[in-house]
Amino acid sequence: MATVPSERKILETLSDAVISCDGDGRILWCNRATYTLLGYATGELRGAHVSMLVAADQEERLAELLGNASNATDAAAPEDAATDPPAEPPRPPRIEGRRADGSKLTVSLAASRYSMDGTPMLTLVVRDATLAAERERDLERVRDELGMQMRVNQVLENAESSEALIDEVLREVVSLGQLDVHKMAGLFLLEETAPPGAPAGQVHLPLAENGPAQLRLVHHIGDFSDDFLERESTIPLGSCLCGRAANSGEVLVSDDCFTDPRHEHAFHDMTAHGHYIIPLKAGGKVTGVVFLYTDPYPVWDERRQVLLETLGVQIGMGLARARDHEALLESRADFARLATYDALTGVLNRRAIFERLAQERARQERHTHSVSVILFDIDHFKIVNDQHGHAVGDAVLKQVAHRMKAALRPYDEIGRYGGEEFLMVLPGCPEETAGRVAERLRISLAETPIDCAVGPLTITASFGVAHCSAERTDEALVSAADDALYRAKRAGRNRVELDLGLSLDSTLADLKRG
Ligand code: GH3
Ligand code: MG
Ligand code: MG
Repeated sequence: MATVPSERKILETLSDAVISCDGDGRILWCNRATYTLLGYATGELRGAHVSMLVAADQEERLAELLGNASNATDAAAPEDAATDPPAEPPRPPRIEGRRADGSKLTVSLAASRYSMDGTPMLTLVVRDATLAAERERDLERVRDELGMQMRVNQVLENAESSEALIDEVLREVVSLGQLDVHKMAGLFLLEETAPPGAPAGQVHLPLAENGPAQLRLVHHIGDFSDDFLERESTIPLGSCLCGRAANSGEVLVSDDCFTDPRHEHAFHDMTAHGHYIIPLKAGGKVTGVVFLYTDPYPVWDERRQVLLETLGVQIGMGLARARDHEALLESRADFARLATYDALTGVLNRRAIFERLAQERARQERHTHSVSVILFDIDHFKIVNDQHGHAVGDAVLKQVAHRMKAALRPYDEIGRYGGEEFLMVLPGCPEETAGRVAERLRISLAETPIDCAVGPLTITASFGVAHCSAERTDEALVSAADDALYRAKRAGRNRVELDLGLSLDSTLADLKRG
């Protein structure tokens, strides 16, 4: 086709290179675009072999492409397919071409064979594909980077705690093929400089505005020497690479630990390496630093910088979210504790012990087991306060509550009814048994003094016991125990009285006889 003079004129107007060869690939003619594209002087290529137009390591591939070249005659469309829409031609394959000066360029190459007057011929159409290849590589990189960010996000979203998040995200980052980093990394958190005497390892967040700050190594993966872990456990802001990155808030690249003067910390057996140091950010503030290890002279361009900056914000925000969530759960738990337990003694508060009573009574209705209550009140407690002060009074209340709770069965409950009065709920316990429990508690309290700042104090209490029956409301039941308690006080204190006019003494005697 391309050897007929009138057709050549047309081919000279094309911007694609068109090369006409004999069946073996020796160039017979090529258009002007060929010379321009490949940098040869006009006519210079005539007689040369097409293999000189590709890089040396591409000759095999060229031979393969030429071997696969479509045969123009064979490819003629069958007549009965004339009404079908024309099929889109396949995209020509890419190959690394070589210019006259030896420089390389990516080209697409379409080859077809045909025969002219019985002589086999080969035509090549060559197009500069440098830009398209670059664009494709860029696209590939963008896709890769997005995939990487999505994987990091997944880790950040699925981690069960901030601690797990730190470990998992570091493992993910070091395994990202795109970053080409070693399987060693660590994460520092920015903290206030620990006040003297503060327990080690505690991170004091949030930061006091402009307060003294340092970095604390909270996690690492990979093999680090004990020497490293000890010396890097905290780093002052501004010191070494990580301290600098935390100060500036900018991603830092270090080409070689031996030549970078900012790599201030050297270690025994240190081998040549580079670093990416990524500040973690949340709400526009640096909250920590991730350090990664690379071979010396890691990739560093604007793209890499943006990628690592994004990673720093991603991890910083993910971590802040996880920590906020944990703080919220903690404060909810605190709130629930406050709503259920008495702040001073740690036993159930009045509302919670009444709730417990209601639950036990509901259970009793289903299973007809007994529930008894014991109400006790510390005797002459006012005197303790008056003689030793309110703080000692508090300590006594606390210890009495703990001792009473410890003396109960695991399924019994005690709550602070008010002031120095406590209510106990004893499921599965008839009144007589509850009376004996109360008697045991009374004796143990009276016989073992309470240890206080002012020395041992003998404390006694009076007890009222009542048993619930279907017709009694919870309040009526507790009021009956209160009546019994009142009787115990009137009868001289440090006593147990039962409800329904039963006396403990007679009950104990009955029990003994039985
Ligand atoms: P009784 O034997 O009749 O029960 O005499 P009492 O002194 O124990 O009873 P009273 O009701 O006269 O006094 C109870 C005292 O308990 C008065 C109150 O200040 C004190 N109190 C109540 N709650 C607390 C508390 O949380 N801490 C301290 N330290 N004292 C408390
Ligand atoms: Mg009292
Ligand atoms: Mg009282």
